[in-house]
Amino acid sequence: VTRATVDRERVVVIGAGFGGLAAARALKGAPFDVVVVDANNFHTFQPLLYQVATAGLDDDDIAYPARGIFRRQHNVGVRMARVTAVDLAERTVHLSRGEPLRYDVLVLAAGAVTATYGVEGVEQYAFGLKSLDDALALRAHIVERFEEAAIEPEIIDDGALTVVVCGGGPTGVELSGALGELFQKVLARDFRDVDVRRARVVLVEAADRLLGTFTPRSSERARTTLERRGVEVVVGVGVEKLDATSVQLSDGRRIPAHTVIWAAGVQASSLANVLGAETTRGGRLLVEADLSLPGHPEVFAVGDIAASPGPDGQLLPQVAQVAIQGGRHVARQLVRRRAGQSTEPFRYRDKGSMATIGRRDAVTELPNGWRFSGTIGWLAWLGLHLVYLIGFRNRANVLVNWAWNYLTYDRGSRILAESDRERIAGG
Ligand SMILES: Cc1cc2nc3c(=O)[nH]c(=O)nc-3n(C[C@H](O)[C@H](O)[C@H](O)COP(=O)(O)OP(=O)(O)OC[C@H]3O[C@@H](n4cnc5c(N)ncnc54)[C@H](O)[C@@H]3O)c2cc1C
Repeated sequence: VTRATVDRERVVVIGAGFGGLAAARALKGAPFDVVVVDANNFHTFQPLLYQVATAGLDDDDIAYPARGIFRRQHNVGVRMARVTAVDLAERTVHLSRGEPLRYDVLVLAAGAVTATYGVEGVEQYAFGLKSLDDALALRAHIVERFEEAAIEPEIIDDGALTVVVCGGGPTGVELSGALGELFQKVLARDFRDVDVRRARVVLVEAADRLLGTFTPRSSERARTTLERRGVEVVVGVGVEKLDATSVQLSDGRRIPAHTVIWAAGVQASSLANVLGAETTRGGRLLVEADLSLPGHPEVFAVGDIAASPGPDGQLLPQVAQVAIQGGRHVARQLVRRRAGQSTEPFRYRDKGSMATIGRRDAVTELPNGWRFSGTIGWLAWLGLHLVYLIGFRNRANVLVNWAWNYLTYDRGSRILAESDRERIAGG
């Protein structure tokens, strides 16, 4: 940012995710110079990562260059670097490259990472689904297992075509449904030389039902729909440990599987720990009602990294709307303070929850008690995701890809580039 003047405060935003972007965009035209710092040079639309992993969408359909987002917003600059430390006393952010950044106001929006809960083998052998790299690695691995099975069919008995998805929240449910469809509708036609009917998708959830934050009716619907589509659903059973070719369940069962996906939970970015501020059990930063850090009115935390209490005293969920609304709230408070006004508490407006279960089926629950499922729920899901995607080009690409996939049962993104093969060979 080159236009810094004495009376313009510098706002450093860590993270170009939902929360960080919302804060920076809402400061458009306000007397602040904003620097958005992200380890990547792009924003990732995480709710559609599972579609990249299952070959429904391309990686750049759901990612958008951070500099492009702020091309027309002249009070925002972008820095691609990993934040390694924050010095609250010196008001300085240390980066993996380049000079440290001084700030007048800091917005922490670094999101969350996969939580392994210390389960043996997860770190080494399971795939996460938190980043574009995770999604691409998973997609390449699955396609490669099918190629291997075409050459050596015996490895199917060893679990080469079995995927175990750990965690029956929205991500696990959406991913399992999409994997079932990928196997039976797409790869079955690609791999006529492989007995794809023997490919398995097993969804394991430790609680007694899927989609624990939804109503029991939606949970039941998700379960029956997935089972009808060939997904094996195991509830009330935990994952004890795993290795490269199998998963051990808490009921004594061992499932041979070459692919295990860990979608069982998240914990706040480790940045929350390096601050030395107080955190919850999930590593989230405790914040005041206005989302500032206790004792540091110049530092705010929004989104997955923050532990902001909702009206019922429970922590707000780690979902996109909480991050977006939190980011906008912080921007409003900065403007209020500049005008000599006091800050207001953050009030989250719940807009409801939704999860797709696969082709033409989804569950949608609105706060006023309305529930949609089946085709209407699915269309609502499609529409909402298109609205929240960034960039006209991305929306157009996603729409075309969805229409193509729907009409033809074909999916474009299943190539194995040499770099993918090297990555697989390198473990
Ligand atoms: C697979 C999946 C599916 C999901 N589906 C849904 C859904 O359907 N609906 C929904 O509402 N929510 C969904 N979520 C949750 C939602 O994506 C998150 O709640 C939301 O992204 C949180 O926004 P955020 O701004 O806090 O963090 P993020 O969007 O995660 O952004 C954090 C940013 O910080 C950057 N960063 C992290 N650490 C550093 C560092 N040290 N230095 C520099 N940069 C850093 C990261 O690169 C990232 O760009 C899903 C999440 C996942 C993983």
